[in-house]
Amino acid sequence: MHAHIGIIGGGMGGLLLARALAEQGVASTVFEREAGPGLRAQGGSLDLHPESGQRALRIAGLEEGFWKLARKGGEELRVYNSSGQQLAHRIPDEGADTAGRPEIDRPALRDMLRESVPEGTIRWGHHLVEISPRTNGGFTLRFDGTEDVTCDLLIGADGARSLIRPLLTDAKPSFAYSYVEMHITDVDQRSPEISELVGEGTLWAFGDSMNFGAQRNGDGGMRVSLSVPGEEDWMENHGIRANDPEGSRAALHEVLAQWSPTLTDILDVTDDYVVPRPITTLPKDVGWEHHPDVTMLGDAAHLAPPAGEGANQALLDGALLAQSLLSHGVASDGSMNAQQRAAAIADYEDEMFPRATNAVEHSLQMISIALAPNAAETTAKMFA
Ligand SMILES: Cc1cc2nc3c(=O)[nH]c(=O)nc-3n(C[C@H](O)[C@H](O)[C@H](O)COP(=O)(O)OP(=O)(O)OC[C@H]3O[C@@H](n4cnc5c(N)ncnc54)[C@H](O)[C@@H]3O)c2cc1C
Repeated sequence: MHAHIGIIGGGMGGLLLARALAEQGVASTVFEREAGPGLRAQGGSLDLHPESGQRALRIAGLEEGFWKLARKGGEELRVYNSSGQQLAHRIPDEGADTAGRPEIDRPALRDMLRESVPEGTIRWGHHLVEISPRTNGGFTLRFDGTEDVTCDLLIGADGARSLIRPLLTDAKPSFAYSYVEMHITDVDQRSPEISELVGEGTLWAFGDSMNFGAQRNGDGGMRVSLSVPGEEDWMENHGIRANDPEGSRAALHEVLAQWSPTLTDILDVTDDYVVPRPITTLPKDVGWEHHPDVTMLGDAAHLAPPAGEGANQALLDGALLAQSLLSHGVASDGSMNAQQRAAAIADYEDEMFPRATNAVEHSLQMISIALAPNAAETTAKMFA
């Protein structure tokens, strides 16, 4: 098989790119390692910012669909200290037609993107394992258990552990902090008190340089998390393990032993689901020498700790890369000559590098605030 435009990864950024091209009648192919849609837990909800995520959906002609799925109430935010005292409470403006940064559930957003591309655009079950440059330009892509594919333009939208990244840069992700993810199914039924405590949006509690969070999702569930700075083996050393939810809950109670039960009672109603997630980050200066046949977007290009920017920037990358390809004359089958391709990549990257550098810097700054000893007071002031 030959694909003029081969996109590796059907996450937020890769799908948005394919959609924005398809919207203008241009074909591309997304190679996704997952065997089919909906097979992987997709995490909690995202707030899409007007200048990035929402802008990208507008460019891709999906703004109307987004507003149908957006949850304005999800913007509610309650800030607590570890004694269980509420320090700030932000409520979305009831009078406004639209809230500034409405939440959308990740699975809903991904489904909308997936359904918005022509059939056959996404090749499920395509796990890229090897890439070889071809002598006349472009690449041969080797997938696990399926036929090889050749492509002229290769786009790495394959997330944090990108296989495309080493073609462009030596930058490698490094450990930033530990993040334990849990979940409560049907929180209204399981615990009306916790449902009431968290409200429609997110509760953040800060203390001892840690951040404990609970975020309501649109499916009636709640995502619960604890972020902890320190050594990479902190979760393992504290007995927080995916295959031992009960032991992990007990370990977390021990870690938070000095915290108010108002907050730590949340742990007792979590499902038997624990994901110890080491959070990694790329260096903050994003950039590499332009290559005529390959580029990257989203986490592959500029992985940062989660602070509300990653998905937004991945979506915007996808939209702006599509615009650059279109402005340099990409044909409806995705073909372009070598000069057009090189110019489109250079224009896209010249805009993306400084924007992504700012986003990574901002994320690192937000995380250093959230994991500082005085985080409760600082964050409360920010949102008061
Ligand atoms: C705990 C947590 C909370 C977050 N919260 C927020 C938030 O509130 N707001 C926000 O904006 N961002 C948030 N983020 C960041 C956000 O999730 C990412 O920045 C975003 O998903 C990046 O999108 P992407 O398309 O670049 O990559 P991904 O969404 O990671 O998609 C990559 C895709 O590539 C596929 N893939 C990978 N390797 C291969 C391969 N070899 N072959 C084929 N396919 C492959 C994967 O299966 C996946 O589907 C959060 C991240 C984490 C970890």
